[in-house]
Formats: sequence, C-alpha cells, structure tokens
Amino acid sequence: MKVCVVGTGYVGLTTGVSLAFLGHEVTCVDLDQAKVDMLRAGKCPIYEPGMEELLAEASANLRFTTSYADAVPGADVVFVAVQTPSAADGSPDLQYLRSAAESVAHALDHDFTVVVNKSTVPIGSGNWVDAILRDSFAQRADRPAGVEFAVASNPEFLREGNAIADTLFPDRIVIGSDNPRSLEVLNRLYRPIINQTFTAPTFLPRPEDATAVPLVSTDLASAELIKYAANAFLALKISYVNEIGQLAAKVGADISEVARGMGLDQRIGSRFLQPGVGWGGSCFGKDTKALIATASEYNLEMPIVKAARDVNQRQRAIAVERLQDELRILKGRKIGLLGLAFKPNTDDLRDAPALDIANSLLARGARVKLHDPVAAERFRKEQPELAPYLTESLDELFADCDAVVLVTEWAQYLELDWSKFVGLMRNPLVLDGRHVLDGERMRRLGYKYVAVAG
Ligand code: NAD
Repeated sequence: MKVCVVGTGYVGLTTGVSLAFLGHEVTCVDLDQAKVDMLRAGKCPIYEPGMEELLAEASANLRFTTSYADAVPGADVVFVAVQTPSAADGSPDLQYLRSAAESVAHALDHDFTVVVNKSTVPIGSGNWVDAILRDSFAQRADRPAGVEFAVASNPEFLREGNAIADTLFPDRIVIGSDNPRSLEVLNRLYRPIINQTFTAPTFLPRPEDATAVPLVSTDLASAELIKYAANAFLALKISYVNEIGQLAAKVGADISEVARGMGLDQRIGSRFLQPGVGWGGSCFGKDTKALIATASEYNLEMPIVKAARDVNQRQRAIAVERLQDELRILKGRKIGLLGLAFKPNTDDLRDAPALDIANSLLARGARVKLHDPVAAERFRKEQPELAPYLTESLDELFADCDAVVLVTEWAQYLELDWSKFVGLMRNPLVLDGRHVLDGERMRRLGYKYVAVAG
C-alpha cells in the first residue's frame, strides 16, 4: 500500500521505516530540512538502537521529503505523528497537528485516504482533525473531484530504546474510527504484523513467544482514550511502588524485595514496579496532565492520576533530600550524576529527572558534574545552561566527589568497575536512584550505599 508519514520524530520515523520494511511504499514528510537531509543520507537523527540498520534494509521502499505535494498524493494512508507538547495550562498544544492537517488537506488527491492520528491527542481530536481537513479541503481552489477521506486513530505504544521491536512485535494494535472503510484499510495495512507473516530483520530475530498480534478495532473516542488510560496506568504503577518505598524506608523494609514479592503475583506483574527517582520523558508527564485537563472539561476530577503525578515529582526532591541527609551541608559539595537521558537506550532528555536533580543541587550551592554515555551531545544543545557541568571522563566525575547519584540505569554504569573509582572520591557515597546496584557489593568495595527509598 502507499503510505505517507507526517513527522519523522521517534514515532513517525519508526512507523515509516517499519512499514517500508514490511513492503509498503512509504514517503515521510518533515518540515525540518536538516532531519530530512540526514535521513536521505541513511543517518538517523535520533539515537534508537537498530534504526540505521532498518533504514538500510527498508531503503528501497522509503523516501524522505519536506514537501507534502511529494508525499500525500496517491497515499492510501497518511499517518500524522507530529509532537503534541503540553501548553501552559496542561492541555496538549495542538498547533503542530492543526498545521499538519491543513497541509495534508491541501495535498489530498486520492479517491480514498485514511488520515490517521498517531500522535497522542486528546479525546475528541479525531473529530477536530476531521473538521480541519474538511474546511481546508473546501477552501482549495484547485480541489480535485472524487476525493474522499476519513479520520482514524492508531495510538502508538512504542518505548524509546525498544521502538522497532515494539512496532514489529507489539502486544496489540489499536485502531479506531467511526468509518468502517478506514478500519478495513488499516487492518489490511497491518496484516503482516497481525499475522506475523514477515521475515524478521536480520539484526532483530522474532521473539520465540511471538504469536498473532491482537487487533483492537474500535470507535474513534475509545481508541483515543485507550492510549491515555494505558499511559496513566503505567505512570501510577511506578508512583505506587515509590509511595510504598517511602513507607519501606521508614519501617526498615527493602523496597526492592517488596516490589519483587508483589510483582511475582501475575495479577500485578513485575514490570513498571521499579522504585527510584520516577518517570520522565515526553509522554507520562504530558499525557497524565492531558487526561486531567480533558476530564476537567466534563467536571470530572482524576484524583488517582493527580496523586501519581505528585508522587512522581516528589521522588526527584527526595533524591536531593537523601543527599542532604547524608552530607548535611550541600553547599560547596561536589556531586556527580551518572545518566541524563530519562531512561537508558535513548538520548531523549524531555522531562528527565536528572535535569530537576541537577538544578536543585545547583540551587542549594552544590557543584555538579554530569555524565551520559549517549545523550551528552543532545544535552549540550538543549540545556546550554547546564552544559558547562558535563564531562566525558568518569575519572573526572568521581575525582574528589562527595557523592555520586545513579540517575539513569545505563548498562555501562551497571557493568562499571566500581572498584576503580572508590579511591578517587573524597567521600565514597553512592545514591542509587534506580535501585539497580548491588548494595552489599558496593559496601564491600568501600562505598557508603544508599538508595532513594528503602
Ligand atoms: P518528535 O518531537 O520526536 O517528532 C515530531 C516531528 O514532527 C519532528 O521531526 C517535527 O519536525 C515534525 N513536525 C512538526 N510539525 C510538522 C508539520 N506540520 N509537518 C511535518 N512535520 C512536522 O515527537 P515524537 O516523540 O515522535 O512524538 C510524536 C507524537 O507521538 C506525540 O504526540 C507523542 O506524545 C506521541 N508518542 C510518543 C512516544 C515516544 O516514545 N516518543 C510514544 C508514543 C506516543
């Protein structure tokens, strides 16, 4: 089938490259000329494991452009995957979506095109996009006859760092539309994934337990709500274990053991039950805020979701409080942060806990050194005020340090030869912000080991 993808960020690029890999003819359009130039050269503008390999494997079916006129005409499906950041009042800023919908409407020329919201958009946005498409199309002096289109929602559940596997071997696919023909088109588009009939990429073998993928084919509003409800649930699972972690610290229980004991119950499950400095990234914060904003339009409170957000914000403050408890005075202390990206295997720094922790330490007069194995370059560009504190050298980070905080659980840090660094520190305190280091081992090596909770 012929596919257009609008936006080549984490979601759009993964969608476009994966569909091209499956044999669809894909054109990706982005307004960012530099991104398009890189992609045309086979280079990936984001850090996402396997993406450059998949770009190479899919290249015969894949084009990149900045022109809607090159991308939309003839497309059976147009995915819109532009950013939807939070506006000042917490509701999502839909200006990129509006502009993309207008541009799509000006280029539509096909007898039937499904325009799919892949961005995470508030409930009701499908109808809103439909209205923009119809108004913009009606205003076209050159509008061709016989053009039909309908809007669908196909929320994205990929995890950065695991985006390709999550797309090719997903837990489920959700499609929603009030137009049956759209659902049929999307069902056909995704058939190779639903039935797992494609040959897996050379670098990413099909998981042994991969089976047919459940398809949730539903109405527009339900598909839109599924995305928010799922993200908010994952967010509150993390906040729940962190709340229990605070009690664990008081009563002398080990929260990692508590989480393990809980997670082995199959009704609960162990995933997203990891205590620590909490979630970050571009989705959970924004999507929980948007869910609360939508609910308030209907005079509904979302007390559970609100509490999950408060607990998460508190975890970042608790990390600094733990340092203060240990060091008493933060002024003048040198504190190293290991990890800046909001999670491992990505260079995404949006709403990363490390940013709040670093700023809070600086505000208290501490000196900081910052390290990340992958996100440092992006950090330099996006956080110019904190960039002077970056170091590429772990020796420099540990030297004369009063405390080191593990903020992002990169494999490099877990596999570090910690024995090499203990002697460099002025005070060998390690605060484990993710509860992933072996506390006993760290103590044997001479560190004072503390975790954020418990
Ligand atoms: P992103 O910021 O990485 O990418 C958005 C891209 O859209 C950018 O390259 C930008 O240049 C381009 N763009 C903006 N306006 C445009 C326009 N009018 N025409 C063409 N291109 C345009 O964003 P992302 O992380 O890929 O997220 C996209 C959406 O998917 C958001 O709604 C997000 O909430 C949702 N989502 C993200 C993730 C994730 O892990 N990143 C997961 C699930 C859902």
